[in-house]
Amino acid sequence: MRPAAVLLIVLALACGAPAPAPSPAVGRMPATWYAGGATCAGRPAFRVHEYQPGFFILRQPACTNYEKPFLYLVIGRTRALLLDTGAGNIDVAGAVDSVLGAWRATHDGAPRDLVVTHSHGHGDHVAGDDQFRGHANVTLVERDTLAVRAFFGFAHWPDDAVTFDLGGRVLDVLAIPGHQPASIALYDRATATMLPGDSFYPGRLYVRDTAAFARSIERLVAFSAAHPVTAFLGTHIEQQRTPYTDYVVGTQDQPDEDRLELTRADLVQLDSAVRTMRGRFVRTKLPRLTIWPM
Ligand SMILES: [Zn+2]
Ligand SMILES: [Zn+2]
Repeated sequence: MRPAAVLLIVLALACGAPAPAPSPAVGRMPATWYAGGATCAGRPAFRVHEYQPGFFILRQPACTNYEKPFLYLVIGRTRALLLDTGAGNIDVAGAVDSVLGAWRATHDGAPRDLVVTHSHGHGDHVAGDDQFRGHANVTLVERDTLAVRAFFGFAHWPDDAVTFDLGGRVLDVLAIPGHQPASIALYDRATATMLPGDSFYPGRLYVRDTAAFARSIERLVAFSAAHPVTAFLGTHIEQQRTPYTDYVVGTQDQPDEDRLELTRADLVQLDSAVRTMRGRFVRTKLPRLTIWPM
């Protein structure tokens, strides 16, 4: 720590003011997430990226499913949490085991327990559940709203925010129904990263319950006004680098896909567009996403 920073803290303590909160560890992103085309030859099952120590991003390649979803693995001292199990036709348990195995080999006392939960209950995020169900040291949270509410301890779904401690690493859990009834967002305090699933990502935001979706976006805006958010990392990329342009539904090869991370400015823009529609949703293109009522 620089002497000036020490002085500031000493002065703050002397004045009775709270010490400044530690800065979040900003994650590193690769230059591209390009997930290849139809052929799997020579391609690893998952692209695994260490965003920050103890925070891994796994991307399913295009050759196994055109949805190419992103999965997240966050590791604390007492347990690890996997968000989503992929779109199927892929060994997700093996990929997660190898990341956890490497982590344990280099970290004393690393956790053996794994919680497997979902951004929401759609098939392209839960297809690998059977690979974890019934395994020792694994708690699988089923995909339905009741199971999610009970596991995380929501008393007043979707309005109360709850926390989930991985051991020295706290996640905030927000209910964000609208895309799907069991949708949640996870916020990793260590990296100030929000994981909003299919509710907010660079692509087509399919909205089934417009009223619930509007309130969920409001909830994310309010949360991110009160907490730093370094990045919103969703579960797909369907957008091209060219603003207002997405790849056609089902496109397997997306060589010019947009970056994954969205910002609070993108969220505020979405919230503003949603408010303008006053409950009468129409398909609306924004620079980095499209609101797509179902
Ligand atoms: Zn979905
Ligand atoms: Zn999806």
